[in-house]
Amino acid sequence: MSGKQFIITFWGVRGSLPVPGPGTVKFGGNTPCVQVEIGDRLFILDAGSGIYNLGQYLMQKDGPVSGDIFITHTHWDHIQGFPFFAPAFVPGNRFVLYGQGQMNSTFADLMRGQMMHPHFPVMLHEMGAHIDFCEVSGRDEIDLGDGIIARTALNNHPSGSTSYRLEHGGRSCCYLTDTEHYDYPDPELVELARGADVVIYDANFTDEEYLGYEGLPAKKGWGHSTWQEGIKLVRAAGARQLVLFHHAIFRNDEELEEIERRARQVYPDCLAAREGMVIVL
Ligand SMILES: [Zn+2]
Ligand SMILES: [Zn+2]
Repeated sequence: MSGKQFIITFWGVRGSLPVPGPGTVKFGGNTPCVQVEIGDRLFILDAGSGIYNLGQYLMQKDGPVSGDIFITHTHWDHIQGFPFFAPAFVPGNRFVLYGQGQMNSTFADLMRGQMMHPHFPVMLHEMGAHIDFCEVSGRDEIDLGDGIIARTALNNHPSGSTSYRLEHGGRSCCYLTDTEHYDYPDPELVELARGADVVIYDANFTDEEYLGYEGLPAKKGWGHSTWQEGIKLVRAAGARQLVLFHHAIFRNDEELEEIERRARQVYPDCLAAREGMVIVL
């Protein structure tokens, strides 16, 4: 191991919609947001409702806050927390938002769109912090300075989505969510996850749900994957730890614990993501 501390903290692990309530207290009900700290640098993966609590935490720190925010795509569950991210309202703070344009709109316009009147009372450019945008396109290699590199790959997801890999000092964390496998693991994502220490993966469904069972409709084409496919992907990529992520809204704590137990029988170095969980590389 070399270089700076590399810390991954989960603030939102649920897909599609926040689902607070007695059935989700252990794993959490907030939509995607993962914080990656590398030394004194701040990186944020997605701005789902979990970014609200991250923002409150960051507001307790002294001095200005700056960070890079990587957005997989602008489906609501991945951006709905941004208008409530308190540090973005503080003059002197600086953020760079990375993401992909879609449907003839730039990424910046897509992010501004959810804060246009009458959807929200404050426009993005009125928030206060200095906010820059950076378009990604898939297979990017972004030098973030301080020996930190971000890489991207395109996902198989309705309207598109981007996976990210952050690496520093021989350690790496991959964030592969809102993506559907093929009859085989997606070769682009296998390549992105090659040798990674941690792979956070879209395990919205089980194989049984995805394929359709007991008369339920199959979920093929919905743009999500399964824990079983996550195991295939980390094995194909020679990656180490698998973190199941983007938990389905209908899944309660007991069902998630059962999925985690089943997955660990097949691939022991596997966890189901929980809000508040911290992984140190
Ligand atoms: Zn999603
Ligand atoms: Zn999506």
